[in-house]
Amino acid sequence: MPDNSPNSPLTDLRNLTLKELTDFIVELGEPKFRARQIFSWLYRPQISSFSEMTNLALTFRARLQDIARLSSLQVDKRQEANDGTVKYAFKLADNALIESVLIPDDNRHTLCVSSQVGCAMGCAFCLTGTMGLRRNLTAAEIVNQVIHVRNELEAKTNGKGRINNLVFMGMGEPLANYDNLRRALDILTDDNGLDFSQRRITVSTCGLVPKIEQLGAETKVNLAISLHAADNETRSRLLPINQTYDIDALLQACRAYPLPKRRRIMIEYVLLAGINDRPGDARRLIKILHKLRCKINLLPCNETEALPFKRPERAVVEKFQHILQEAGYTAIIRESRGAEISAACGQLANKRPGNCHQTT
Ligand code: SAH
Ligand code: SF4
Repeated sequence: MPDNSPNSPLTDLRNLTLKELTDFIVELGEPKFRARQIFSWLYRPQISSFSEMTNLALTFRARLQDIARLSSLQVDKRQEANDGTVKYAFKLADNALIESVLIPDDNRHTLCVSSQVGCAMGCAFCLTGTMGLRRNLTAAEIVNQVIHVRNELEAKTNGKGRINNLVFMGMGEPLANYDNLRRALDILTDDNGLDFSQRRITVSTCGLVPKIEQLGAETKVNLAISLHAADNETRSRLLPINQTYDIDALLQACRAYPLPKRRRIMIEYVLLAGINDRPGDARRLIKILHKLRCKINLLPCNETEALPFKRPERAVVEKFQHILQEAGYTAIIRESRGAEISAACGQLANKRPGNCHQTT
């Protein structure tokens, strides 16, 4: 049985990068190469205990058992929508709930993961924002979302199905939990870990400029920006973070982001009726995005009773898209997937959190 107690004195090995695990093993007086051996066991399908790590001496396995543990996530609820979208509510060791959403698209799968319990950023249109921040997720809690869904998918498809893309668009602001995000990315992209290519991972942010710079300097993952408005007055009303890092500072960080060839930044734009959906907003957007290598995802607002925002009429959404396309931008209307199971963007609440649902 995995030990998931939050106060456990045992070291959770799934919470360590390979480098950290190496330090841990060396401190035990074991040779360095053991760390890589253990690390590669940690992320194999269906491994849940040290006793399964058969190339380690029995005495060492017993020693590990006494000082270390392998955490996993407990499924609180699993819901599958008609379109195949699966929403997982995971219960953490302290009973907090987070969600992950698996979105199938032809033969590909995108997994949307959470990075925090709640969120401190307080965006006006987002249900997660209304609950405030309860806590950051650990690296293990981030990685375990991926392990759980990957194991289930592989078991269901006889090893054929895999998660092709990972998006940090679930509950929370990933760049506000930078250190654990960074460690989770290390584990997810290590070829002895979950072996994801960095270009298959997208981190979405409301605009923490210094952390965008750090992410660009330290990783090669894709960046998605929740822009949502083309002028500072509207953006500051919708996203309080704009009062600290305004549109100029944000887009400057985007322009400086070291993008590999042929890759583009994803600009996310929630369309809120009567607030940011007019042709003038689209034209201003064109102006401020000038020469930025980007594609634009238009997200018609997911309405919730708790918040006063409305989704614009379809014609308004299409007109907005058309103006952007005429100016040469790739602009895609992202329809909510799994809406009937509240798996859609911004439907995260503390009772039964929902989640975002975009494929990249
Ligand atoms: N905190 C990060 C990651 C969450 S991503 C960020 O904000 O980028 C979730 C995406 O869903 C964000 O683009 C967010 O702005 C969007 N979203 C939030 N509430 C929404 C709503 N009511 N309708 C549609 N999209 C929403
Ligand atoms: Fe947090 Fe993102 Fe929601 Fe804003 S949109 S409150 S940053 S989860």
